[in-house]
Amino acid sequence: MNKALLSILFVANLLSLSTKANDHELKWEFISNIFYTNSPAPKEVTQEEIDKAISLVEKTRAHEKKVFIEYLTFDDKTPDYKLWALAIRDTDNDGIRDYVVDEYSGKFREGDFDIDGDGIYNVFDSSPYNNLVGGTDTNNDGSPDFFYEDENFNSIPDHLDWSNQNKSAQMKKMQRALYENYKVILVERGFNFNESVATGVYDLVRTLFKSLFIKGQVNPSLRVVAVEENVYFKKQSDVFGATLGMYMGFNPTFLVFSETALLNKTYMLGVLAHELSHSYQYLVDYSVDNIDQYLKFKNYDITNFLSLSKALGFNSNKEDSHFSEYFEILSPTYKEPTRFRYSLDGKSMNEWRTVLNMNGMSSEKIKKQHIVSPYSLSGPWEWLSDQTTAYLFNEMDKYGKRSLPLSRYRSLKRKLIRNSNLDPDFQVFYYENGEGGKTFNFLKKNFSLSNEDLNFLIDNY
Ligand SMILES: [Zn+2]
Repeated sequence: MNKALLSILFVANLLSLSTKANDHELKWEFISNIFYTNSPAPKEVTQEEIDKAISLVEKTRAHEKKVFIEYLTFDDKTPDYKLWALAIRDTDNDGIRDYVVDEYSGKFREGDFDIDGDGIYNVFDSSPYNNLVGGTDTNNDGSPDFFYEDENFNSIPDHLDWSNQNKSAQMKKMQRALYENYKVILVERGFNFNESVATGVYDLVRTLFKSLFIKGQVNPSLRVVAVEENVYFKKQSDVFGATLGMYMGFNPTFLVFSETALLNKTYMLGVLAHELSHSYQYLVDYSVDNIDQYLKFKNYDITNFLSLSKALGFNSNKEDSHFSEYFEILSPTYKEPTRFRYSLDGKSMNEWRTVLNMNGMSSEKIKKQHIVSPYSLSGPWEWLSDQTTAYLFNEMDKYGKRSLPLSRYRSLKRKLIRNSNLDPDFQVFYYENGEGGKTFNFLKKNFSLSNEDLNFLIDNY
């Protein structure tokens, strides 16, 4: 899937459709969990706001109108004008709308990460829509100063703090350590973390991605790891197929969806590594000015991402047809990595797909090009993420081969192969194909794994 600086992983899933819940009620329920479970409700919508929304939508082009007419509705498909008004609201008038509305499902996401403009990031704000109230921290230093820009390391505000909740000691420890060391906060949004998801993130931050997370420093492209039910305004039981995760650069959040919590640990590790790699691809161009351009004018300068892609063998040709479907009211379309047409070592991505379909993943042609999965042929954005997972598994494999007794190595290898399917089609993820390629060499240099890291990962995954 190519989406606006988002990345989504789907897996086939044979869930039967259960009785359909009332979608309209669910939409409002999701809005109440938008920053954290039971976030305060947004201020009441006024008639003036509704009139403004109707007249804006009236004038807009068909592809954008469709989002309002198809998704922001009651169950009988009549428009819910309150949702329309919220979709275009900018509470603090800073030119950044409060929400980003997903173009494929209408789901609301955090747009302006400080909606009331009080200097406190919504997630940390016990009252995100009221600039007179911030976060409260009663069990530590008591100061409500959770400023987004503040690089000092304060403690976690009460409404997010697991130390007050019925959680395992290990989960309490991980939430605290991720926040105190790297200012990454684990947040629940109407769905709870399980210990293995939290552990997976915690372990990757300290091994594969340790060059991005330095104790006492902020990594601006990953501030929030949140758990939500799924990517839609729907109950997971009403959705066919599962969505595992999604990274969003603009608010900088990694969303983990409920189905990921059901995966076995090895598979989950691969999924988390894939998504965390997207935050790196966004980080290479990060600056405060650039993110401001992104939020206000939907224009994220990706010069460094394009140079990185070039070093991995990609050429970007021209902006592709998505640009004709630019969104003017909603914010899903950006100038971004997925909006270009790419070629890889002289062949277009479609040509590579044809080579793959004709010869198969285990063929010499595909191995020679170091292609690890069909999904990685979406372009450099998914390529680097799938290669990152492949690199991780391949390093675990190689280390196991040289250090474990043969029988243990064989069972590790079986486990890695069984769980390295990050593609909707089964049996198409060949992590070993990456060996010797430009991308693996780049990853070895920038995301090196020590024997200690590998030993730890093999023991635990
Ligand atoms: Zn992805």
